Amino acid sequence: MERKNIVISPEKIKEQYEYMDKVKALLADRMQETHYAYVETFGCQQNEADSERIMGMLVRMGYVQTYDPALADIIIVNTCAVREHAELRALSITGQFKHLKEKKKHLIIGVGGCMVSQEHRKEDIKNKYPYINFLFGTSMNWRFPEILYNCMIKQKRQYYLDCGDIGNIAEGLPVKRESSFKAWVSIMYGCNNFCTYCVVPYVRGRERSRDKNEVLAEIKELSDSGCREITLLGQNVNSYGKDFEESYDFADLLDDICKIEGNFIVRFMTSHPKDASHKLIDTMAKNPKIAKAFHLPLQSGSDRILSEMNRHYDRETYLGLVNYMREKMPDIAITTDIIVGFPGESEEDFEGTLDMLEKVGYDNIYSFIYSKRKGTKAAVMASQIPEKVKKERFARMLEKQNAISNGKNNIYLGTVQKVLVEGRSKTNPDKLTGRNEKNRLVHFTGDDSLIGNFANIKITEAETFSLSGELIK
Ligand code: SAH
Ligand code: SF4
Repeated sequence: MERKNIVISPEKIKEQYEYMDKVKALLADRMQETHYAYVETFGCQQNEADSERIMGMLVRMGYVQTYDPALADIIIVNTCAVREHAELRALSITGQFKHLKEKKKHLIIGVGGCMVSQEHRKEDIKNKYPYINFLFGTSMNWRFPEILYNCMIKQKRQYYLDCGDIGNIAEGLPVKRESSFKAWVSIMYGCNNFCTYCVVPYVRGRERSRDKNEVLAEIKELSDSGCREITLLGQNVNSYGKDFEESYDFADLLDDICKIEGNFIVRFMTSHPKDASHKLIDTMAKNPKIAKAFHLPLQSGSDRILSEMNRHYDRETYLGLVNYMREKMPDIAITTDIIVGFPGESEEDFEGTLDMLEKVGYDNIYSFIYSKRKGTKAAVMASQIPEKVKKERFARMLEKQNAISNGKNNIYLGTVQKVLVEGRSKTNPDKLTGRNEKNRLVHFTGDDSLIGNFANIKITEAETFSLSGELIK
């Protein structure tokens, strides 16, 4: 792969800065003191990271961020296409913004993200949502200033949807992060795996890794500014570097990140089991900066379904990985993603999944009812599972996992946990709340000055979904 064709040239990035200045000038010409921008985000952490970049550009253009769409002069909806439910929610919210536009004629509404990169959804929006000003696919995010500028001066609907086969990497654009002490850092984009149920490779393009020096520089900057938790993002972080000429993989990157000075921990997601190496696990085990938490999507516990899903591993290799992880890091927290009701899933296949929940003993699972995605192989597979059966299996699976998760918290009783304090608890503002490296919620009494830093908490109570404890001075 020719990397120089993938990384957007500095000249082209500079052009986008010029567009930002042009939008700024247009805003300055208006008889309005403050221009507000609102971004609504659906879907995964990658989308959250993309939204932070879009907000970064908006702020650079002179907008002020708002969390109230009614105040906004520009609204961007960053959509997800992984399941139908997420698409319908994005469409419904976009529909609700129509009345804001009726009240405020100059309101600009743009829709981006994975959903709009699909031809049929583009047509839907084109026909049913005439008040939307522009659509832009994820590979066009870096051209957002240009798109917005054109929308402002041309007064007609703009489409920037070319998802492209390769995709691209844009460096040096502004970012406005939601948190000052937790940050997403994308290390790669796209996916080459084509799991048969998944739309991501179609809407995010091919795998491409960011230059390691760009990643390391971003993390150094974050660490210098007091960031305490860095989550590395990619659809399959384990294939980081496969597109480099030099031999440099995800484990090497983690090793180099851990050499950066600072009081921070590193997380990463997501790891495809077919590429999770012993080298990666060894690297985790020896580096205290890497959180001892591993998200390893299983998807199904049936070898037959795994093969139909095009996952390239089986139960045995998966369990082998889990055993190796626990050998090296006995207290590691393991979480997973499961799909229930993939086409052709028999009762026996499903029981295989339940069996894996027990064999692995996950700390937590993220489970999904299979959702048919247009254009994917599984969408046209025979024997789609009836909704009723999918829902019934889904409920059985949750029941099983709840029984496994129950009690997992008890092991923390009496221990001292290093917790990154995130803020006041939403359910009980008297308490502060944070997470330990295993991502467990911990509540305790303390002062606001602790927010954004690590605190040592002695665990005194364990509930099903959280822990409570006392601050140790
Ligand atoms: N790249 C990541 C996941 C991206 S999508 C990985 O491979 O793990 C996040 C999760 O959504 C997937 O792990 C899968 O469990 C779920 N998912 C993806 N497509 C789906 C579909 N069509 N129906 C239901 N769940 C789906
Ligand atoms: Fe989708 Fe599979 Fe790629 Fe994950 S690895 S994004 S599930 S195709």
